[in-house]
Amino acid sequence: MDKNIKDLKILIDSNSLNKRIKELADEINSKYSTNEHLTIICVLRGAVMFFAELVKHLKMPIKMEFVSLSSYGDSFKSSGKVKSFNLSLPPLKDENVLIVEDIVDTGLTLDFLMKFIKINCKAKDVKLAVLFDKKCARKFDIEPDFAAYEIDDKFIVGFGLDYCGLYRNLDYIGYFE
Ligand code: 5GP
Repeated sequence: MDKNIKDLKILIDSNSLNKRIKELADEINSKYSTNEHLTIICVLRGAVMFFAELVKHLKMPIKMEFVSLSSYGDSFKSSGKVKSFNLSLPPLKDENVLIVEDIVDTGLTLDFLMKFIKINCKAKDVKLAVLFDKKCARKFDIEPDFAAYEIDDKFIVGFGLDYCGLYRNLDYIGYFE
């Protein structure tokens, strides 16, 4: 379906997003010790802007890792299958791990990733932070430890989230009516 940026309505503006992400970072800071390092895994590509904003406000020493996964393709709906482009991670044995994802929808992608990390990497602790929790669309048993916003079942773009690869660079969250 063809979409035009002129038809995009603003759902959350840039200032509100940044303010809310700072609050979420404070919540995360309060749950971890500042003496122990945290390994943060950014799920590319959608989480890139959220990740970059969030880590600026975290107080503990952090290591950054990146994985690429996709379940949407060029569509408004999950394909029901996870395509893994890159899941190479260093040994995470006994590490505290925080996965940072743009949005949890059906939960398929994060169910796949969390199982992969728990089985293959033997981390001490794995938690999940998302910018958006679309609880109403959930099909898998995934509950984020930290979520900036809960949203209803609408397709959003901007701040890392795309439609057909576009709109990721917007500094706000929009939706098509
Ligand atoms: P899930 O595997 O939980 O069904 O879907 C997770 C992935 O689907 C997200 O990482 C994101 O790439 C994509 N997704 C889910 N909902 C939306 C949405 O409203 N907008 C966009 N742009 N992508 C979404």
